[in-house]
Amino acid sequence: MKSEKRAKPKIGVFKFASCDGCQLTLLDAEEDLLAVAQAVEIAYFPEASRRMRKGPFDIALVEGSITTHHDAQRIHQIRRASKLLVTIGACATSGGIQALRNWQDAGEMARVVYARPSYISTLKLSTPIAEHVEVDYELRGCPIQKGQLLELLSALLAGRKPNVPTYSVCVECKRRGSVCVMVAQGIPCLGPVTQAGCGAICPAYNRGCYGCFGPMESPNTTALSDHFRILGQTPTQIQHAWRGMNAWAWEFRKASEEVKVP
Ligand code: SF4
Ligand code: SF4
Repeated sequence: MKSEKRAKPKIGVFKFASCDGCQLTLLDAEEDLLAVAQAVEIAYFPEASRRMRKGPFDIALVEGSITTHHDAQRIHQIRRASKLLVTIGACATSGGIQALRNWQDAGEMARVVYARPSYISTLKLSTPIAEHVEVDYELRGCPIQKGQLLELLSALLAGRKPNVPTYSVCVECKRRGSVCVMVAQGIPCLGPVTQAGCGAICPAYNRGCYGCFGPMESPNTTALSDHFRILGQTPTQIQHAWRGMNAWAWEFRKASEEVKVP
C-alpha cells in the first residue's frame, strides 16, 4: 500500500514599515532553522528567496507597522490568506520607533525631511498590525529573540500553546544574578514593566533597560514614573524614557502622556 505524503505546513514572511531586523533573526537561526525548515515549506520570504509561492499559508509571520494606505489594504489580503497570523517585533506589535511621529504633524515632517514631499503618501499614524486585523500570536522585541521564535514555530507545528513569558525583565535579571542598576546605581530602568525575553541583556552590561520588548502583563507604569522622579529625572527625560521603540504600545503611550512636561 502506498504511504500518503502529507503536505508540509506553508509559512509566509511579510514585511511592512520596519528595518528587517526581525526577519534577519529568522535567517540568523541558521542550523536550528534547518530543523524547522524540514518540517515546513517556507513558501514566501522575499528577503531570503527569489521563489515566491502564493498562499494560502498555514502561518504568516508579519514584520513592520502600517504606515501607508496600500499597506492598510495589503494586511487584510495576508490575513485572508493565512490560518494563523503572528506579528514579530516592536514595529508589528506596537507601531515601532516610527510611531514617534504619531505625536507630530506627519505632513510637516515630510516637508522638513524630503526634497519632494509631494512624493510621500503616508497615513497620519504608524500603527501595529493588531489595529487592522486579528492577530493570533505576537513576538516582542527589537529585534525578536531567536529562542522565542523557534519555540513559537515548534509549538504551532506541534499544535500546542507557545511558551512565551509575560513576566518582567527584572525576573530574568535576578535569574542571571545581575546587580540591579536602578537600586545600586540609580540608573533609570524600564525592566520592572517590560516583558521578558532578552535575558536582561542591558542591565548585565551596566545600563538600564529601555523597554524594547514592550509592556509586560499589567505593568505599573505610574509607580515607575514616580520612581524615575525620585531618581532625579526631569519630566522630559521621563517622557522620553517611555517613548522608545514601543512608544505607541498602549501602556507606554499612556504613561508618556501622563507626564506633565512644562
Ligand atoms: S536592573 Fe532593571 S531589570 Fe534588572 S532588576 Fe533592576 S530594575 Fe529590574
Ligand atoms: S534589557 Fe530591555 S532594552 Fe535591553 S534588550 Fe532586554 S528588553 Fe531590550
